[in-house]
Amino acid sequence: MDTGKNRYIKAPLGMKDLFPEERVLWEEIESVAREEFELSGYYEIRTPVFEDTRLFVRSIGETSDIVEKEMYTFGDTTDSMITLRPENTAPVMRAYLEYELHKSKKFQKFYYIGPMFRKERPQAGRLRQFHQMGVEAVGSYDPLLDVETIKVATRVYDRLGLSGYKVKVNSIGCEKCRPGFRDLLKEELRRYKEELCELCQARLDRNVFRVLDCKKKKCREICNSVSSIENHICSGCQDHFTTVKKTLEDIHLEYVVDQNLVRGLDYYTKTVYEITHPAMGARDTICAGGRYDNLISDIGGPPIGAVGFAAGIEASLIALLKTRNKENQSGNPPVVLDVYLVSIGSETRSYCFRLLNNLRHAGVSVDMDYESRSPKAQMRMANKIGAKFAIVIGSEEVEKGVIKLKHMQTGEEKLTHDPEEAIRIIRE
Ligand code: ATP
Ligand code: MG
Repeated sequence: MDTGKNRYIKAPLGMKDLFPEERVLWEEIESVAREEFELSGYYEIRTPVFEDTRLFVRSIGETSDIVEKEMYTFGDTTDSMITLRPENTAPVMRAYLEYELHKSKKFQKFYYIGPMFRKERPQAGRLRQFHQMGVEAVGSYDPLLDVETIKVATRVYDRLGLSGYKVKVNSIGCEKCRPGFRDLLKEELRRYKEELCELCQARLDRNVFRVLDCKKKKCREICNSVSSIENHICSGCQDHFTTVKKTLEDIHLEYVVDQNLVRGLDYYTKTVYEITHPAMGARDTICAGGRYDNLISDIGGPPIGAVGFAAGIEASLIALLKTRNKENQSGNPPVVLDVYLVSIGSETRSYCFRLLNNLRHAGVSVDMDYESRSPKAQMRMANKIGAKFAIVIGSEEVEKGVIKLKHMQTGEEKLTHDPEEAIRIIRE
């Protein structure tokens, strides 16, 4: 039993509410993203929030952190288990296959924006319901597309005015060259087994590439001393990576190669990339992506190349807020009402309510008091919420049918009998 002072039911661990003030910036991020995605020919797909569990196990991989311990999985009335989506690449590919788009419109560019669910240990910046926006270009092995997706992400950040981000790229090879490098890495890392953290010791056998991703200092040092993948990928992967790097240079997109960059999801092949931001601390990735040429075949389809990214919306928002504050920008102005209606005496309230509805019908944003405040307190409210005008309605105004508009900033008052005229004044 909760014996604390606050006995209200709280949101479950790792869940966050978004209040109107925060939503303004959220909306800005989403609308800029939508515009930029569509400008580059990506169109929105909306898939359900839960899927057959097998979809994620087969694509993300049994030994990934997500599948091992982070999925919300439960039974429903069917025989199969269902899982709240921890990411949205596999669901989009599931839809692509289910509707047999590979037969009718093989090459497709999708984007999505929505909630994802992972039962992570709640720690700084980690939520159990978080949001991602992402793109997926399906049906091609062209390295130019890898670069296109990176550019789409940076265009979004540039337009939002986010400065200081860093683009990191790497190649993790393909099913031909990866196993060889996996064995080599295992062999080399085994020599340092005692020095690796406990988790990485377990990763050695289960999923050795994850060791490269460990954030612990000692593990990082060891990883920097072992062979790097760049010299061990096959010529096909080499060529692909060379084209990616050259194309990034052609379009003047600044990047660094990070040979320890691996992603936590098993489906990636060849190119992987991340966008990081220094405002984020240790977990500094705000956007992550890469090529996943085996995913579609892993879930039962034909071999089809694809590439895409997922950007964390909460992470992008934090990075953006921090840079904007640093540059002393206050972010977006709060939503401002055109009019606040002030009624004097309770008998004028029904008149006020009719006027309110007529104004709203004409597209004027307007509100009134619902808390039985005094006229003085209503005026203070008009001021506090930053309404452009106050319209004061007393019995005299009702009788004479006049509308008295007070400009809140200048204090100037205008009288009119004509509602159309009032609307014109408000819109000026
Ligand atoms: P990370 O290494 O940051 O945990 P990941 O490899 O687990 O990422 P991705 O799906 O590639 O998972 O993540 C893309 C981005 O989505 C992350 O960089 C981050 O901004 C955001 N993200 C992932 N998990 C969470 C979470 N639990 N809460 C908030 N944001 C998240
Ligand atoms: Mg993670």
